[in-house]
Amino acid sequence: MSLLSDLRTPSGSAAAVQRLWPLLERMYPICRSITGNGVRQTLDLIETVIPLQRFEVPTGTPAFDWEVPPEWNIRDAYIADESGRRVIDFRAHSLHVVNYSAPVRQRMTLDELQPHLHSMPDRPEWIPYRTSYYNENWGFCLRHRDRERLAQGSYDVVIDSELEPGHLTYAECVIEGSGDELALVYTHTCHPSLANDNLTGIAAAIAIAHAMHAERPRLTWRIVFGPGTIGSLVWLSRNEPLLPRLRGGLVIGLLGDPGPLTYKRSRRGDTATDRAAQLVLSGANAQIVDFEPYGYDERQFCSPGFDLPVGRLTRSANGRYDEYHTSADDLSFIRPECLAESVRALAELVAVIDRNRKLRNLSPKGEPRLGKRGLYGSVGGVSPGQFEQALLWLLSFSDGRHDLVSIAQKSGLAWPLLVEAAERLEAAGLARSIGLAEEKHMQQEPIQ
Ligand code: ZN
Repeated sequence: MSLLSDLRTPSGSAAAVQRLWPLLERMYPICRSITGNGVRQTLDLIETVIPLQRFEVPTGTPAFDWEVPPEWNIRDAYIADESGRRVIDFRAHSLHVVNYSAPVRQRMTLDELQPHLHSMPDRPEWIPYRTSYYNENWGFCLRHRDRERLAQGSYDVVIDSELEPGHLTYAECVIEGSGDELALVYTHTCHPSLANDNLTGIAAAIAIAHAMHAERPRLTWRIVFGPGTIGSLVWLSRNEPLLPRLRGGLVIGLLGDPGPLTYKRSRRGDTATDRAAQLVLSGANAQIVDFEPYGYDERQFCSPGFDLPVGRLTRSANGRYDEYHTSADDLSFIRPECLAESVRALAELVAVIDRNRKLRNLSPKGEPRLGKRGLYGSVGGVSPGQFEQALLWLLSFSDGRHDLVSIAQKSGLAWPLLVEAAERLEAAGLARSIGLAEEKHMQQEPIQ
């Protein structure tokens, strides 16, 4: 059994999550951001499992209407009272500092400090997650109960950070396919000590890349680890020539909470990725929702100038669970069995997207004689009748308009059976896979 097939089983996906768990524990404390050494350390850990190609893109590099910001690094940060005791300490939790805070070293009264403090009165035990990437600012995030204990008086406020020209770092694991078309998995790597968002996306991407690395898929898969928004914009700006050959793609994240699996359609809503999700997730504990221009990096991949066949797989959507973007989204919030179910669904989706294609019937005038080509007979434990049906459905709809997924949906026949039948038709010379260019050409021909 191939590794990707193994990941599609309950035991295989559970074992993969168990193997990756120590890595998540090592990644959790790291202060990641959209740039900086936290991202590089995270990629170092990912690279202990899968090979990566890394890219360092200089500050100021344009990406459409955006540009790569200064690189942010932080060594230490704290607020100390008059006795020198740290009342807030970045070393205790990376969420304590507003991500991308400019350097500060100042003595302030509590009243002067208050506008720079962020807490959640309705969740007094949780530290909120705040960022200030594109407005230079600084601040601290803390538990509301600790904020209420701060006495009047003066405080030493220190953020030992740097905002300097540097680089944005992202990485790809590329699994070469047998053809010249490709597919994409994108997960963001910019969140500091938060687990569901998005160590689970990183874990699922590693699991898929690791499993696929041992195989030769049909499509070339690019598994991309990059920061949110600016990372996908940079990736798009550097890979624009590849995009016409992109067959499918998924943005992934939020894969370990107990909410149901949620697939968000691409902007077009009827792409091969959307139909693959319909096939894989129908019947599972899952929901499929329409595109909206809010969310993760699908916003960039599906922006109207690209309009790519890229959907999104999460469990609860962003902002739709209480612990979202707070210190309560820690490793104890992740349910390993939910993450395993997500990995399984992702592996299934990847397998379907990879195998899905359009065939051209090479003998379209009348039914070809199957018997003389040895195409009758039982295959893979199904009855000869079912296999013959699969052949006939494929021959009938291999017209340049229907792919294997849509034929599976039309016929109600099982996906593995259709994949097997398609391979047998190709081997017998009755059909062949067609590329995107030929597909476009065939769609303009009359049906013969
Ligand atoms: Zn987030």
